[in-house]
Amino acid sequence: MSKLADNLNTILQRIKELSELNQTSVRLIAISKTKPVEDIIELYHAGQRYFGENYVDELEKKSNDNLILTQCSDIRWHFVGHLQSNKINRILTRVPNLDCIQTIDSIELADRLNNNLQKQSKILNILIQINTSNEQQKSGIEQKDFLSLYEHIKLNCTQLICQGLMTIGSLDNVNTEDESDFQVLIQCRKELCDKYNFSINDIELSMGMSNDYERAIQVGSTIVRVGSLIFGVRH
Ligand SMILES: *Cc1c(COP(=O)(O)O)cnc(C)c1O
Repeated sequence: MSKLADNLNTILQRIKELSELNQTSVRLIAISKTKPVEDIIELYHAGQRYFGENYVDELEKKSNDNLILTQCSDIRWHFVGHLQSNKINRILTRVPNLDCIQTIDSIELADRLNNNLQKQSKILNILIQINTSNEQQKSGIEQKDFLSLYEHIKLNCTQLICQGLMTIGSLDNVNTEDESDFQVLIQCRKELCDKYNFSINDIELSMGMSNDYERAIQVGSTIVRVGSLIFGVRH
């Protein structure tokens, strides 16, 4: 087995063990930013379907690569970076197999996406990104404002399917046991479910990366975004 497929299977096995313990189903998004399409194709052939990128240019290029188009027809792309409004049309019209934008953090962004999708008669999965660490420079909507964003999307954005919540978390938490970002996202889901009478299982939580995906699953993550542990370190 190739090194990448080996890495993938090790992580899938861990995900399986951990998710069985708390009876959740967990999706792995392989974050392929900066990595070549050959790596993506190798993992696709090993069974991985979900891949994530954080720059629109790179996502556009990779998703239109000839080998990807011909060999990976069932690939599902997630966008996990900050989405600038001048890139909205590009991501919505030039990325085949775009499955989800995980980083919706303002009413304005939601409206712009919705208008564009409406013109194309398309719908799109999204997550609301929450700034759980209150760091000024970080993207994501503040915790106190996320319910009104959800309400706005629910009432006005007919083309957007909000599947749940996402956080990147504080970079200070890397290699520490600090779970406060996870706990903030869990608390937000509780508020959302209380307000709309949703079951907890109806709302996805995208949290956990290479260094903390196991802890994230233990506390209830349903989508983990793992890059370097699969592909190797980025340069
Ligand atoms: C890069 C990135 C990841 C993956 O990070 P690793 O530490 O390499 O697993 C996850 N989520 C987002 C939003 C990223 O930009």
